[in-house]
Amino acid sequence: MSHRPGQPGDAHVIPPEPAVVDLHTHTSRSDGVLEPVDLLAAALAAGITTLAITDHDSLAAYRELSAADGRPEALGLDLIPAVEINSVSEAARHDGHYEGELHILGYGVNPASDEFEALLADQRAQRRRRFDRAVTRLRGLGLSVDAELEHLTFHEDAALGRPTLARMLVAAGHATSVDDAFSRILSGGRPGYVPREGVGPLAGVRAIRAAGGLAVLAHFAEAPDNLARLRELRDHGVGGLEVHYRGFGAATRAALATTAAALRFTATGGSDYHGDRETYAEAHARLWVPPEVGAEVRREIANSTLT
Ligand SMILES: [Zn+2]
Ligand SMILES: [Zn+2]
Repeated sequence: MSHRPGQPGDAHVIPPEPAVVDLHTHTSRSDGVLEPVDLLAAALAAGITTLAITDHDSLAAYRELSAADGRPEALGLDLIPAVEINSVSEAARHDGHYEGELHILGYGVNPASDEFEALLADQRAQRRRRFDRAVTRLRGLGLSVDAELEHLTFHEDAALGRPTLARMLVAAGHATSVDDAFSRILSGGRPGYVPREGVGPLAGVRAIRAAGGLAVLAHFAEAPDNLARLRELRDHGVGGLEVHYRGFGAATRAALATTAAALRFTATGGSDYHGDRETYAEAHARLWVPPEVGAEVRREIANSTLT
């Protein structure tokens, strides 16, 4: 039995020094708040030297930042092309054995791969349909966000998500905070929940591998209790486990580190910053990812691209 995040005994990790690596962040190109350029500036100001923007189903932030003047490398920052794919668990669909979704991070994916971009575009279209269904459902519940929707501007490549709905519910006065909107309205089992569609975990992993990337299981606290599932995922190309996740305490991280070592997974980590609860500087003050993780992930990406 592994520790669960937030449980007694899972003490918060105090950074021994300011973290220089953050491999899990979101911008307004998916369901984060900050513009890519503003996240980049905030990460640089906090002392980050290796950054991955892991927007859901979108490489838009990476493409914009690497095409712009003042490119990340000129600023002393290693920006890794990355995505997060929230996959629908086949097991959850079939027999309910594993509840919930598996979130797969892809590091070092080729931003010029047309095949990968086609998969991401399909995922974004599914997100758009889910979003529209949720808006309709909220209207039926007397929780209309129609007025807020008129003011919402979408980036053409943006991947919509529930945090956007949550922010609109707050703006409309139907919820007091994003957390409140999730816990009462949008989470699984709540009246405003609409099931996700899209790729399953194995298809997500295959796509990341085919694009030359390293596939990593994100914030999977239950990993130590699911070794058979992890071996299956490893056989299909998963190469890492997110051990140094900001939301995990020391006991959860220790259990995940043991699991990662046993399966020879690369241990990654990051803040999963979205921007709803705090500034990046405040999130960074509570972030600990060992500095060597940046070079290890870069090495694994080089290996993934070769094989
Ligand atoms: Zn996630
Ligand atoms: Zn995330």
